Amino acid sequence: MVSVPHLTLNNGVSIPQLGFGVFQVPRGQTQRVVEDAMEAGYRHIDTAAAYGNEAGVGAAIAASGIPREEIFITTKLRNGEQGTAAEAFEASRRALGVDVIDLYLIHWPVPSQGLFVNAWQALEKIHAAGRARAIGVSNFLANHLETLLAAADVVPAVNQIELHPTFQQAVLSATTRAHGIAVEAYSPLGQGADVAAGAVTALAKKHGATPAQIVLAWHLGIGNIVIPKSVDGRRMRENLGAAEISLGRDEMEAVTARERGARVGADPAEAAFTQM
Ligand code: NAP
Repeated sequence: MVSVPHLTLNNGVSIPQLGFGVFQVPRGQTQRVVEDAMEAGYRHIDTAAAYGNEAGVGAAIAASGIPREEIFITTKLRNGEQGTAAEAFEASRRALGVDVIDLYLIHWPVPSQGLFVNAWQALEKIHAAGRARAIGVSNFLANHLETLLAAADVVPAVNQIELHPTFQQAVLSATTRAHGIAVEAYSPLGQGADVAAGAVTALAKKHGATPAQIVLAWHLGIGNIVIPKSVDGRRMRENLGAAEISLGRDEMEAVTARERGARVGADPAEAAFTQM
């Protein structure tokens, strides 16, 4: 089985650097997909209340027979529940069927709501009570991080942001790391759009690897936590195999040169999704 490196978060918690995301995995397929992912060797699953599939993730974990402490589970607070985070956390924990969540994130800052600092204080209480081993944020821009940190007792462990070769957010990544916060790359393959580039396919040929493996090896080389999604067992194994590929400096630079400012998701400065 592929050996995935671990990173240590700013509170000492260890996280598998390569995990498995379940955004857009349909509810009815989630248990099967997550069971396949764990069978392939993933031990880090990224879900969210807004994905509507936490129960399927929980069912797969229960059915796997893998000891709970060997699986790292991330879930996220819905935007529309930032004012009731304690209750929302309990609902997620129950849906997942676990006592403790490994990492609980504020899903989006939703600056128009003005609630993320209040939500963070609720997450700090959840963390202090031992119900979440680590707490963090997602889609936070530099100004959101600064507002949060000015009021926070706990520095977020993670900022999960859209990051892939054609949309690298280099300045936000550097700012996040400068605060001691780990960078977690979502949509790491650009939702599939970043694997077709000539520079990537040439490196794939050279390494006897696939283009997706090259992109994921680039993330791992930078030090990003990375959570590719696939419903296909072959691609799940392929993506996990990236942990066995290491790129040289020139090779890393060839992928870095793919920056195009090509965001595939929403802009956190404006996104509200309060229905989520
Ligand atoms: P992604 O992982 O970059 O790409 C997934 C897409 O790429 C799917 O269409 C998948 O198709 C395809 N794919 C997977 N492996 C492939 C391979 N080896 N070769 C070619 N295509 C491949 O995008 P994502 O799902 O948006 O992001 C991953 C995870 O990040 C999500 O599942 C979620 O956990 C998290 N996320 C978080 C946020 C946030 O706001 N915090 C937002 C978006 C995503 P198949 O499934 O058909 O294989």
